[in-house]
Amino acid sequence: MRRTRTAGFAALSLAAALALTACSAGEPGQTDEPAGDGGTATGGGGDSLTIGIKYDQPGLGLQEGSDYTGFDVDVAKYVAEKLGYSEDQIEFVESVSSQRETLLENGSVDMIFATYSITDERKERVAFAGPYFVAGQDLLVASDNTDITGPDTLDGKVLCSVEGSTSAERIRDEHSEGVELYPAQTYSECVELLSAGNVDAVTTDDVILAGYAAQPQYEGQFKVVGNPFSEENYGVGLPQDNDVCEDVNSAISEMVEDGTWEELLKANVGDSFQWNEELNPPEPQPCA
Ligand code: GLU
Repeated sequence: MRRTRTAGFAALSLAAALALTACSAGEPGQTDEPAGDGGTATGGGGDSLTIGIKYDQPGLGLQEGSDYTGFDVDVAKYVAEKLGYSEDQIEFVESVSSQRETLLENGSVDMIFATYSITDERKERVAFAGPYFVAGQDLLVASDNTDITGPDTLDGKVLCSVEGSTSAERIRDEHSEGVELYPAQTYSECVELLSAGNVDAVTTDDVILAGYAAQPQYEGQFKVVGNPFSEENYGVGLPQDNDVCEDVNSAISEMVEDGTWEELLKANVGDSFQWNEELNPPEPQPCA
């Protein structure tokens, strides 16, 4: 855990929270199972497709019993169908932020739909189709908080974000002065810390934060600050050596053109979030 400031009481409670998490969480997103034998390298049509998603992000990727819901999940199903896979040929696997590149590199998943921003750094290890959505980094705070209004108001604050995310990296690179960053494994862990008063804010993409704020168990507790300070282009993570990128891009364009993109976005996040209509829907970028 990197600290830019020492915060006595908060540090103690965070250490306790970390110890608890370390005991219970295991290593989310890690699997020794090989990816489905359909394999994206052959362009689909095989027996199965292994897709990495988030399991704990309401409205985007959420595991509920044996069900998976959210915009990322629905986009994944749409794209899979266009590649020749029915829903029962999809195997969903949890892909926490810090594991995504590794899961693609070691063949544990065929593709990832998990609020996964396209970045040059990540492109050194994986490939991306898309983007299919643009979000912006923002802050989630207690509803009665008035002093955190954006990234320049974080001096002396304890923030939670997720290891391996662009959100944590941006705080470290651009806003670390006077900020203590607690790196969690998942955003739901951060939101629990915020609910318990152990951190002052959670930072990640606005659409993710809005999904937590709208959860019935947190009703009235949180607000999204609403001052986004980045552009997060959500791509479909693929192994570098793939031959499906073009097909995934075509499926995304078709999904926008036939109205499904908007329908899925409204159904999954429309009640809690107003997406940026100037930036959405984005045009898929050419595959390298
Ligand atoms: N979109 C950002 C990222 O890819 C933050 C959300 C996430 O961690 O999934 O790092």
